Amino acid sequence: MNVLPSGSAKQSVTLLGATGSIGVSALDVIARHPDRYSVHALTAHRNVARLEQQCRQFRPELAVLDDAREAGELQQRLHASGLQTRVRAGRRALEEVAGDGGSDTVIAGIVGAAGLASTLAAVNAGKRILLANKEALVMAGQLFMDAVVRHGATLLPLDSEHNAVFQCLPSGFRRGELVERGVARVLLTASGGPFRCLPTAQLAHVTPEQACAHPNWNMGRKISVDSATLMNKGLEMIEACWLFGLPGERVDVVVHPQSIIHSLVEYVDGSMLAQLGNPDMRTPIAHALAYPERIGSGVAGLDLVAAARLDFEPPDVSRFPCLSLAYQALEAGGDACISLNAANEVAVDAFLHGKLRFTQIADLIQAVLERLGAEPVLALDDVFSADERARSLARERVGGFLQ
Ligand code: NAD
Ligand code: MG
Repeated sequence: MNVLPSGSAKQSVTLLGATGSIGVSALDVIARHPDRYSVHALTAHRNVARLEQQCRQFRPELAVLDDAREAGELQQRLHASGLQTRVRAGRRALEEVAGDGGSDTVIAGIVGAAGLASTLAAVNAGKRILLANKEALVMAGQLFMDAVVRHGATLLPLDSEHNAVFQCLPSGFRRGELVERGVARVLLTASGGPFRCLPTAQLAHVTPEQACAHPNWNMGRKISVDSATLMNKGLEMIEACWLFGLPGERVDVVVHPQSIIHSLVEYVDGSMLAQLGNPDMRTPIAHALAYPERIGSGVAGLDLVAAARLDFEPPDVSRFPCLSLAYQALEAGGDACISLNAANEVAVDAFLHGKLRFTQIADLIQAVLERLGAEPVLALDDVFSADERARSLARERVGGFLQ
């Protein structure tokens, strides 16, 4: 991983997915340090009201929305109140803004495959990328990491587990050389989600609202369902393999319901290094924004006495098979991880819209993986076509699952 030298000039930040959970937390940190950060661009899908409010507060040069009519409305409202922000619309604009020369840092906070092209545009522009959009790496792993190297981009993990691992790795480490540096394995912690203790028979009847009520983290709806199925940990296992250049057998998962240890690195001498803190994304965001320096995040220090205990248990893959499906897809290679991610996005969306039971999420993904196998991925076009293939198969299959 390359790291930009820290300078005294202000860091100019583009925030992709500004209106989401990651975006709001990132802006909270940025607002605490007006001397260090300026906001170049803010992007969102459809949340016009929140984007407008964020534009008023942070006065970016550019804002991007998906829909042209909504972008026009926002433009009018901002101009009427004297703001110079230029509002653009559509996917092409999103990619252009992600890669433009107005910012040196891009926070990739869009959810799902929708974030891949813009995150890659930032990579191709050689920027410093703070990556929350794990699906981009799950889908395009090798191509993504090759592009990071080719364009001299700097990739810093925002996902709390990967940020924790990053903090526990040997200083100055190089990706792919961790085993030589004495790293035995990486251990990702998982909260276990809201249904960890729910009787198995009830799992088929849980509602989207229950699935989105995460015990420790306040997140967007898609990642909340992923946390409940353990697919989030599956995606994170794949993300860790690509980020740190480790094979799947060196990335393990342990359930830790308190979400206080955010992940660990085990060394060959028996040492285990862990990063601890209150479960609040502002900590990894502040760490990655300021790296290698440290800045305040607004998160209080951990009260160990109040926390009192830390529990651990193995993940229950018989009840939450999505984690096993992720290991299988990684092992299969080729485009299997693309199919895994696409089928998961379709399945989670169907569950959130009452078209699939919670337990059928894993069934649907498994059916898609079995049907599609693993085709080689040579170029970005292969990624998008594999994504589309798996998505349409998954959509067809949703109808076949009885409620
Ligand atoms: P969210 O649903 O709260 O926000 C998603 C953001 O992406 C919104 O700003 C939305 O406008 C934008 N977006 C959605 N679809 C889009 C599209 N088609 N085109 C353009 N923009 C689009 O999601 P989140 O919880 O903030 O998660 C964002 C990413 O960060 C996900 O990949 C997630 O896995 C990862 N992540 C989130 C957390 C967390 O605490 N929320 C923690 C770790 C990693
Ligand atoms: Mg995480």
